[in-house]
Amino acid sequence: MLKVSDCKFLYSVVDPGNFKDDPYPQIAFAGRSNVGKSSLLNKLVGRTNIARVSKSPGRTRAVNFFLVNNKIQFVDLPGYGYAKVSKSQRESWGKLIHTYLTENSRLMGIVHLVDSRHPPTALDKELNEWLNVNGLVYQVVLTKADKLSNNQLAQSLKQAKKDLILTIGTELLPFSAKTGQGKVELLSWIESRIQ
Ligand code: GDP
Repeated sequence: MLKVSDCKFLYSVVDPGNFKDDPYPQIAFAGRSNVGKSSLLNKLVGRTNIARVSKSPGRTRAVNFFLVNNKIQFVDLPGYGYAKVSKSQRESWGKLIHTYLTENSRLMGIVHLVDSRHPPTALDKELNEWLNVNGLVYQVVLTKADKLSNNQLAQSLKQAKKDLILTIGTELLPFSAKTGQGKVELLSWIESRIQ
């Protein structure tokens, strides 16, 4: 498993033409807003508030880059599914994300976060389909697992398996930023992707 000893914020990109080509492998994190992405990132890097930067004004619609252990970039993609976003804002978000995900040879894997308390939304399914169509390697994580009983979690896993199309060999991973459930498995997956 990847042991995170250091994590620092690098920069934000808001214009699809401004992505850099840094010499580091990248792991990206995507999910709808409020899914628990900041909490997951904070938990993974063992810092209480590294992902706060992604929520600061002007950065919520940006792709935010972090450098971990001086050798990997964690890339925080803007949360999708805000109710109050105009069509043109949604389109520019889509362009930014799609450009990042497709024109990027450093991208080694995507962590796709889905809220365990609800069935995958239309946008969750859309991203899942898009990742499949583009042949990208991903791990789907069901967040906030501590909020469910074992029985509810089993139901939620079943529902997500039905609604999402998973690449063969891909499992759903329950995760809790509160208890740390799934952290070791996710860090191991990340390590396996960057080797
Ligand atoms: P983001 O918008 O995707 O970055 O979501 P946040 O990380 O800010 O989380 C949204 C809300 O869900 C916050 O109130 C968090 O405290 C809560 N939350 C996130 N992850 C967990 C979790 O694993 N367990 C519990 N109980 N709450 C969580």
